[in-house]
Amino acid sequence: MRDNLSSSSRIDAGEASSELECLPYSVQHNDEGVCLLVRMGPNRILLDCGLGDSSLLLNTLAKSASRGNSPLPADFVLISHAHPDHARGLLSLHEAFPLLPIYASEVTSKLLPLNWLGQDTKEIPQFCHALPLRSPVELQEGLVVELFPAGHLPGAVAILLTYTTEQRSYKLLYTGDFFLSNSRLVEGLRLEELRGLNLNVLIIEGTYGTSRHPHRRNQENQLAERINRAIADNCSVLLPTPALGLGQELLMLLRSHHHFTGRDLDIWVDGAVATGCDAYLELLPHLPPSVQNFARHQPLFWDERVRPRVRRLQPEHRATVGNSPCIVLTDSTSDLAKYCQPNTGPWLILLPEKIDIKVNKKYFTPTTIESYLLAQHSDGPGTTQLIHNLRPQHVVFVHGSPTYLADLTSLEELQNRYHVHSPSAGILVELPIGDTFLQPAAPETNYEGELTELGTVITITLPDAITADNRWRQFADTGLIEARWQGEELVLRGLSQRELLNQSSDRYTLSDIDCCGNCRHQRGQRCWNPASPLYNFKVTLEGYCPAFERLLNNES
Ligand SMILES: [Zn+2]
Ligand SMILES: [Zn+2]
Repeated sequence: MRDNLSSSSRIDAGEASSELECLPYSVQHNDEGVCLLVRMGPNRILLDCGLGDSSLLLNTLAKSASRGNSPLPADFVLISHAHPDHARGLLSLHEAFPLLPIYASEVTSKLLPLNWLGQDTKEIPQFCHALPLRSPVELQEGLVVELFPAGHLPGAVAILLTYTTEQRSYKLLYTGDFFLSNSRLVEGLRLEELRGLNLNVLIIEGTYGTSRHPHRRNQENQLAERINRAIADNCSVLLPTPALGLGQELLMLLRSHHHFTGRDLDIWVDGAVATGCDAYLELLPHLPPSVQNFARHQPLFWDERVRPRVRRLQPEHRATVGNSPCIVLTDSTSDLAKYCQPNTGPWLILLPEKIDIKVNKKYFTPTTIESYLLAQHSDGPGTTQLIHNLRPQHVVFVHGSPTYLADLTSLEELQNRYHVHSPSAGILVELPIGDTFLQPAAPETNYEGELTELGTVITITLPDAITADNRWRQFADTGLIEARWQGEELVLRGLSQRELLNQSSDRYTLSDIDCCGNCRHQRGQRCWNPASPLYNFKVTLEGYCPAFERLLNNES
């Protein structure tokens, strides 16, 4: 079995190089974690180890080791960030294969122990080696690793692997979880650091599918508004969150939003979320300058003096918490019934979207359950923006519900340019690369306009930025356009002087432009040129690629 878009059929075996492949052990379609084995030439690299079921992981890896005729299931392991769905299997992995080297960013190496809080943390050996950011490190002969901050969580990185042979280099980037926007405690991924890499393969997360999010400030205001309304209604608010990331973002929001600053209000932090806050405090020098500056004037999290008060929930507080309206942040895994007790007032439980949290049907006290969006990953437009900035030959989607990933893989703007894959666990993805690197064409800018129907005339208004393109003069040459339907879409074309003079033929031709319509490799609106990045794809007649070859007159 192959992945659902069999790429090997698109490139002749003779031309293809089999230097690259990806065997996903686990792809986080639900909450099973991410664990991917990548092969680059003779090198075998394990990316993330988020498998929750460690016996499954160890069985798979032991088999992989014996197949590879090696005592180890991979040459080394790279961890993108400290969230459980990427790292929770590491301790079992290390215990089973103590000689297997494990690497991550410095911050991630410090946050990793939060994944094993039930166990004595002193017992957890320092098995993770820290790698520097933005500096290439040759981990094996011919194989270089470089880490780039990916937003999302302090320490989270996108991992660039470069494998160099005598003939050429192969480049693969794994995004881990990424976020292009700045959030309060971590700066977003910087696109400009990654442009121009000439990437062959991009393995990317697709948590939010193609959905589009409102601006972050909007998301924050909506949430603050909802919490404010609940407290005005004499309701306490319960916010279950993962130990790292969202919980700390929520605290920073609650401490600095105008609805709450200066208010006589208690914010209680319980369980692993509180431990997560302590871990952040240790990392202060790695947090954004704005946060370090804030922390010079007041404590980052624990503050009983400044209102609203933020405190760690201690056993002696439990009897009274919720008697009057307050806010509680707690672990996404804890039983929320312990807060919603008969002696407390009503509760509003707010669940973050896209994080799996169990809630009961009934609590001892009136309880309302709602969800909110405070995104920690890029939305659909952010995801395609990253892909178009990198323009790899292969795009492999992991990390997201299968329907969301299918929404992404079926986007025409991706299908027309890249070999798109969305593998299930256990299905090998072959990543053939042509002999010469042909980067897919950059996508066109999209212009958004407005449509007005006025009586018998339709007016289409477009921003004048469109005129900055060199092609505008030719398009607007005569001031006349032709419109025609193409499926559900309306295609506009400028009419040239020559076409107007040449009205005798009723079909305008594209004969003097270099485009798929007069390329010798286009037949039946499909590209048949193995040297083209569009090979085997459906093409539009106006399309173009660098492998264009003009159709000779006697061939037409
Ligand atoms: Zn994450
Ligand atoms: Zn994740």
